[in-house]
Amino acid sequence: MRIITTVAEMQTLVRDLRAAGSTIGCVPTMGALHDGHASLIKSAAEQHGTVITSIFVNPTQFAPTEDLSKYPRNLERDTLIVAQAGGTVIFAPTVDEMYPSGFSTSIHVGGITEVFEGARRPGHFDGVATIVAKLLIAMSPDEAYFGQKDYQQTLVVRTLVRDLGLPCTITVRDTVREADGLAMSSRNVYLNEEERAQASSLYRALILARTMIENGERRATEIEHAMSATLLQIPGLTIDYASVVMADTLATCDVLPEKTNVVLLLAVRIGTTRLIDNMRCTVGG
Ligand code: AMP
Repeated sequence: MRIITTVAEMQTLVRDLRAAGSTIGCVPTMGALHDGHASLIKSAAEQHGTVITSIFVNPTQFAPTEDLSKYPRNLERDTLIVAQAGGTVIFAPTVDEMYPSGFSTSIHVGGITEVFEGARRPGHFDGVATIVAKLLIAMSPDEAYFGQKDYQQTLVVRTLVRDLGLPCTITVRDTVREADGLAMSSRNVYLNEEERAQASSLYRALILARTMIENGERRATEIEHAMSATLLQIPGLTIDYASVVMADTLATCDVLPEKTNVVLLLAVRIGTTRLIDNMRCTVGG
């Protein structure tokens, strides 16, 4: 496993690998890797001779009140997971390498960042857009892989890459779940045993809503109420949002239009841990 820590080294390596005929896939992560990350690395390894996994806990996407300092970090363990999944290179820069003294650029993607996670986490998507642009410039991949788990983030990244004309394909892969349906997340380690058991309620709420849509329900408020009612059976759980919106724009719709794609979006707090999940559904499809 090659572990690269500077942008300059990364760019030289990519140039040499490409000259030697390899295509490049990349998987941007914040480390604390799990099977969700591994599935992205495996997907990339099926298509590309070189798979670079970046591991960088990006401070600018955390609000001051969030969990930056306690975010789980373990490069040794991550290296094993990357190797087992077929990754060939790790890019693990320091904060100073990515944000050297005097750094003063921020990328703002408009529109879709104003709702849901963007509204609840001010500045979050500016941090995401800026670091993703920097990572894509450093790794210059042919294809970059992201998880549907962070649904709104995938829309932000697609918009960023399109608007800036970055020469790379964005591929989004399905959410990998635990046996009870809980979406894998580096933050699940914050849940105690009782909270961990309760956390499967997100998946149950999503499945219930999807079943309602499959059975012909088209009223957004009915679907949203049903998701909320499922979630609120859990004592101590609070809901940030439980919504059904248009999949491409995140626009609300009172009545789900036929033959369109919608997305169910959930964000809740269980104890002190904030969890998000989502599911895309085709209406009448
Ligand atoms: P993170 O390390 O949480 O920033 O995630 C890095 C990448 O892995 C992002 O594209 C995430 O959407 C993706 N990811 C996180 N959890 C999962 C999961 N359970 N299944 C699939 N992809 C995931």
